[in-house]
Parts: sequence; structure tokens; C-alpha cells
Amino acid sequence: MVLKSLKYTLKTALTTTEVTRLYPEVMMELPANERGIHELDATTCIGCGSCARVCPNSCIELVPYRYGNPLKNRKMQFPQIDYGRCTFCGLCVDECPVSCLKMGKRTEIAGWDRKDIVYGPDRIAVKKFSDREVAELEAEAKRQAEEKKKAAAAAAKEKAAKAKGKENKAKAKPGEGGEA
Ligand code: SF4
Ligand code: SF4
Repeated sequence: MVLKSLKYTLKTALTTTEVTRLYPEVMMELPANERGIHELDATTCIGCGSCARVCPNSCIELVPYRYGNPLKNRKMQFPQIDYGRCTFCGLCVDECPVSCLKMGKRTEIAGWDRKDIVYGPDRIAVKKFSDREVAELEAEAKRQAEEKKKAAAAAAKEKAAKAKGKENKAKAKPGEGGEA
């Protein structure tokens, strides 16, 4: 019986085709339309939150991240995805108004802890700015904000001056023409 089993094992090992792979060294080929872990272009994300609002499983939360564009994403908030709840439906990708979120091809999601499978922008960003680029963009955002503040102050001053002018005219009217 033992010899028979051994003979069968040897025959199978030597003659049959491969049925298992040496994972993780050898990965299976994925279909072209496979939906894996999301890929985020942090340089174009505007932090609108549409992806979070449309998600049927509430697995997207916007969180702070440094390597985006403060000129486009003023609050610097980017998606974080909970893969413990994601069904890979792709609705968030369809909803993104600037097409900066895509379904990628990475499919391995594992961890020792629940929080290990919650991927922040740092883990899904495939495109981001460098520290130097972020510093330049921040300086530009600051300059634009100051300009806007100055313009708003000037407009308020002008409005106040006009109102004062009208008030003075109204005060001057009763005396016009003098008493009869
Ligand atoms: S793929 Fe579907 S379930 Fe997953 S984060 Fe996007 S909308 Fe939510
Ligand atoms: S990924 Fe797209 S939909 Fe989500 S916050 Fe960024 S721009 Fe908005």
C-alpha cells in the first residue's frame, strides 16, 4: 500500500503539469479589468469628498496629507480607504470629478491588526509632490491668500466710503432750498 502511494506520488510529480505556484515569488496573472487597491494622484486631488459621499459602505474618509497641491486642495484633505469594508465596486472612481482616483492592480491586503488594512493617502498615492515642490506651492498659496485678503479689505473700504458719501448727501438734503 505504501509503495503504491509512493509510486503514485512520484508519477504525479514527474508527469503532471503545475497546479500550484510558488506564491509570493510567482504571482498569478490578473485579468485586464481586475480591480485592486486604489491608486491616487495626490497632485491633482481637490479634496472635494465626492468619493467619500458616494461610497455605499462608508469606507472613505478624508484625512490630512502633506504631498498634494495646496492651490487646488485648500484644506489638504485626501482619501483614506478602509479595505475591511471596501467591495471594490469602483463607484468612488466613477464619481471623482478630476479622475485622480483609479482602481489599481495590487490585490494583496493583509495585516496583523484591523488598522493595518486601512490605507491612508501615503499608501495609495502613486503620484505626489516632493518636499521642495510642496514648499513652493505653499508659498504661492500664501501669496495668493494675502493678495485676496488685501483685495477684500480694499473693496470693503471702498464700500464704506460710498456708504458714508450717501449718508452725508442724505444729511445735507433737508437744508436744501432753506425755510419759506
Ligand atoms: S470601491 Fe466601492 S466600496 Fe470601495 S471605496 Fe470605492 S465606492 Fe467604496
Ligand atoms: S479622490 Fe477625487 S473625488 Fe475623492 S476627494 Fe480627491 S478629487 Fe474628490
